[in-house]
Amino acid sequence: MTGLKWGEEREARQSAIRRIPRSLRFRLAFSYMVFFAIVLIGIGFLFRQTLAHTLESHSHDILDEEYASVKAYVRFEHDIPLWFADKDDPEEAAFVARLRRIILMADANGRVLEASDGYLALGLESADEIKRILAAGKTDWTVRRNSRGVAFLIRRSVLVDEKKVHFCAIARAISEDVAITNEFTLKYLALVPLLLILASVMGWFFAGPALQPLIAVAGTAQRISGSNLALRITPRGAGDELDHLIGTFNSMMDRLDGSFQQSQQFSADVSHELRTPLTVIRGQLEVALFTAQDVEGYRDAIVNALQGVERLSHIIKTLLLLSQAEAGHLILQRTHLDLGSLVEDMVEEFQIPAIEAQITLTATVESPCFVSADKLQIERLLTNLFSNAIKYTHPGGSVRAVVKALDGWGELTVEDSGIGIPEGHLPQIFDRFFRVPNADVLAERGIGLGLSFVAWVVKAHGGSIDVESELGKGSRFRVRLPASASEPEIADQARQPAQTPAPRYS
Ligand code: ADP
Repeated sequence: MTGLKWGEEREARQSAIRRIPRSLRFRLAFSYMVFFAIVLIGIGFLFRQTLAHTLESHSHDILDEEYASVKAYVRFEHDIPLWFADKDDPEEAAFVARLRRIILMADANGRVLEASDGYLALGLESADEIKRILAAGKTDWTVRRNSRGVAFLIRRSVLVDEKKVHFCAIARAISEDVAITNEFTLKYLALVPLLLILASVMGWFFAGPALQPLIAVAGTAQRISGSNLALRITPRGAGDELDHLIGTFNSMMDRLDGSFQQSQQFSADVSHELRTPLTVIRGQLEVALFTAQDVEGYRDAIVNALQGVERLSHIIKTLLLLSQAEAGHLILQRTHLDLGSLVEDMVEEFQIPAIEAQITLTATVESPCFVSADKLQIERLLTNLFSNAIKYTHPGGSVRAVVKALDGWGELTVEDSGIGIPEGHLPQIFDRFFRVPNADVLAERGIGLGLSFVAWVVKAHGGSIDVESELGKGSRFRVRLPASASEPEIADQARQPAQTPAPRYS
């Protein structure tokens, strides 16, 4: 045997419940972590750029200030730069000495007038380079490294003294700025994995409670079986996607419950319907076996038993036909059908039972009417409608069939002056095995499948059916079938799937 034992089954069920949220939970936490990593890297990059930019503009400001000081302290005499500082002021002397630490001054031809050791270590500009900068007339910024690899920011510009143009370049070490930026980057990068671990842990814990309703849905789904289809999950009232899922799940359960009950009801109805003729047959056979005295007695019992067999086979045949139809195994053979003449023929055939029941049965074809329909199925539809109309009409009453062509439709009306159908039962008359209580008072007991089949035929043809009825006065069934345009189109229409509105009642 291949089934699971109770313990194993429980374990398998629990692990299935755990597996769903676990993988989803992991994916949620992982997505949260990836998102957080992208945000962190973006923010880090932005901060690093802002820091580098701030430090760089700070160095620019300092060099601008130093240049202004050079301008204030230097005078050129015969192209020789002379520094004017108060020798008695040690602070000023120290300041000027600091200005001259990394400086280059040249004349308009690029001839070096003053170059500090610090500047020499950075390498001097060529005469052409100097001339180019002087010709541009704008402050020029560049970065150069000395022999020890220390980076310097160099400010190169024009220095005008007594209308004579000179070149002045001053520099400042920026390795400290680079070090600050690098240190920030390193510390930030070291922090990122820690923050990501924190984000993943948080994501994991936040995803847990968020997935709780899913676990509840899975748990409930596991507990549902044929005997407790009424089980539902209570919505949390948050109005979110999970509540929507719970709502969808519950309405799916409603539908399942409905069709399960319908099929249970159907089985009960079928067994009930089959039991009645079987009881009759058995009773009649017992009569024949135990109590019949003569040939006449045997004959009566056998005739009655045969009637039971007849009813039994009628029920089984109709049920088979209906289930074949509903399962889509009955393929329509559509033709260019003259509905008017078919109704007239059928009315002709039904004259004998109508006369027996003392009912006037007539047909009126108001206008020529061709429909695209399967003749055999339409004959079955007419048989059901006519036999019902005759069955449920008192002697002396009338049944009238009217056919007319409408725009795109062929319309058939079967109207009787019979017992009518109570309003409350109108929506049920197309259900399988439904019979209006007390309808048998007038007619022989039916099986309640005729109108279900009629509804299927109409639906399969893409038509519609509606009923109007007044208790004690009569009923009117109105069927509409798609009109047939011309013969060649029929084959195409036959291939189209059936679509129809549900029957209407009034
Ligand atoms: P049945 O074999 O019982 O006639 P149907 O499916 O044909 O089954 O009809 C369902 C029920 O609808 C009938 O039992 C009857 O109560 C009611 N009904 C159908 N046609 C008529 C009619 N023309 N007049 C009154 N009642 C009708």
